[in-house]
Amino acid sequence: MKAIVKTAPGPGNLAYTDFKDPDLQPGQVVIEVQATGLCGTDLSLYNWAESMVRQFKPKPPMVMGHEFAGVVAHVGAGVTGLRVGDRVTANPMIYCGECYYCKAGRHSICDHRPQLGLGLNGCFARFIAVRQENVYPLPPETSFEAAAMSEVLCVALHTLDRIPVGPGDTVAVVGAGPMGFLVLLAAQAAGASRLVMTGLKADGDRLNVAKSLGAHTIVVDGTDPAEAVRDLTRGLGADVVFECAGHPSGVPQALSLARKGGRIGVLGQGYADSSFNTAILSYREVELIGVRSYDPKVWHRSYDVLASRQFPLEALITHRLPLEDAARGIELMKSKQGLKIMFTTDWA
Ligand SMILES: [Zn+2]
Ligand SMILES: [Zn+2]
Repeated sequence: MKAIVKTAPGPGNLAYTDFKDPDLQPGQVVIEVQATGLCGTDLSLYNWAESMVRQFKPKPPMVMGHEFAGVVAHVGAGVTGLRVGDRVTANPMIYCGECYYCKAGRHSICDHRPQLGLGLNGCFARFIAVRQENVYPLPPETSFEAAAMSEVLCVALHTLDRIPVGPGDTVAVVGAGPMGFLVLLAAQAAGASRLVMTGLKADGDRLNVAKSLGAHTIVVDGTDPAEAVRDLTRGLGADVVFECAGHPSGVPQALSLARKGGRIGVLGQGYADSSFNTAILSYREVELIGVRSYDPKVWHRSYDVLASRQFPLEALITHRLPLEDAARGIELMKSKQGLKIMFTTDWA
């Protein structure tokens, strides 16, 4: 089959090439991919970022990609409840189900959680094999492209499980990438009264999308974002801040935006150390809360979220490219030109 393959360790080393079809193991299904999204983590794998390599232990040559939707093409022995032709998406995190954290329902911090497309072969290909329990059927009216955003949607749902928001809250999102937008939409769906997104001048088009979704936007180069948020909040600051940039300046900026007693969700997986004086946590009783991926519970809930169309997911797709143009997609993402870049496939 054709696939986008990370061919060797080190930065770059990407090719659209032939790759062996996945082996179908008992308990698995093979899914024919119909739409697949490009994610910041894919960019980290492409760049061979040290923290990413340490975390997921990729072993090239391997197929990249972990956000997708498609159609069941083959069903392995022992699989029940899934049939050839079913429209599905899948949780790419292969949590172990056995460790202390899985047993406590904290699958997101499972001790053994290899991930499709980051450590195991992924979905930038015609076919991907996935174990049955990670496969979720789609509502009939949901498009493959919207469904291919289930993974980021589930991160956002899990984020709000960790850090609930509601009416009366001002929610600020640091970082105008796809993850920031999903969290923004989740906060909006949860009833937050005011939404703010901060970004860079280079994020121009992305911030326009945020405006169109009803958020206040702040360009941080040349302005003091903390002052801008205080101006919007009677001098208080944001009740909740979500750090979705993963840049070393992200958490310090989030701390400057939060009101006293505020909560900060840290989703960004920074590639470098971040520095701030921890006394601020004491003086201001701010809570700094780590958030990672999702658990099966939010994947089950995502069916109804997709069916309800509460999240205008398709509005976040700025580029649709054929899978063989993945390298161009990565360049677009690097230069912050795109928001969600979706690869479409035509296997006919
Ligand atoms: Zn992702
Ligand atoms: Zn586990």
